[in-house]
Amino acid sequence: MDYSLLYWLIVIPMIFVSFILRYLILSFGALGLTFLMSRNRKIQSSREFTKPQILRELRHSFIGVIPIAFIVSVVYILGIYELNKLYFDISEFGWVWFFGQMFLLMFITDLWFYAVHRLIHTKFLYKIIHKRHHLSTDPSPFAANSIHPFESILDFIFILLASFIFPLHPIALFIVVNISALWSTIGHLGYEIFPRAFTGSIFGKYLNFATVHNQHHKLFLYNFGYYTTIWDRIFGTLHTETDDLIKEKSSANY
Ligand SMILES: [Zn+2]
Ligand SMILES: [Zn+2]
Repeated sequence: MDYSLLYWLIVIPMIFVSFILRYLILSFGALGLTFLMSRNRKIQSSREFTKPQILRELRHSFIGVIPIAFIVSVVYILGIYELNKLYFDISEFGWVWFFGQMFLLMFITDLWFYAVHRLIHTKFLYKIIHKRHHLSTDPSPFAANSIHPFESILDFIFILLASFIFPLHPIALFIVVNISALWSTIGHLGYEIFPRAFTGSIFGKYLNFATVHNQHHKLFLYNFGYYTTIWDRIFGTLHTETDDLIKEKSSANY
């Protein structure tokens, strides 16, 4: 297939629009979910999401998603011109690697995000990059992408680096990027959505639920994780009350 200028003029804007649409669908969908849940599940139960807060999170998120769409576009363009390790025929590396790369990418996301997050909480970087995300001390479902564009680049640049290191299939990447967006939206829900049967299970014990990340927004210096609390537990940055709060919020009636 010949990739003409017209092809890129159609595909690249489509990637950008799809990222903005996905953000809107996930955020409004998540807001709808919060209407279905009882007050007892609100993590900071004494507070309300305010209209100025939601408008600010929306405004910052429209800017915050652009670098992510840009990085994904670059990975795709490089792949088309065989300049990185993107491949398009699943049979080339088989189904085991198709799913294996997804787990690997999620593992890398979890570790990378923890490290970057600790880094941007240092005084200088916090002030110029990360403060924007922390304007929400009780984040609403619109806050997931409410980040400075530089933070967006730091958070997602590993995808570009990974595309030079191991074979990546665009569909596997597409799935992982969407799981990441979904998890981040859940993390900023402001409500605990999962039942105690799950949060108290062996698997659930190590997941970074909304309650965990909400505490990060409230307390700043604890709970830096993304998918899991593993790195917070290893490096001693999990707040001591987090497990009890998860138990309380996930045990509340819906
Ligand atoms: Zn932070
Ligand atoms: Zn956050």
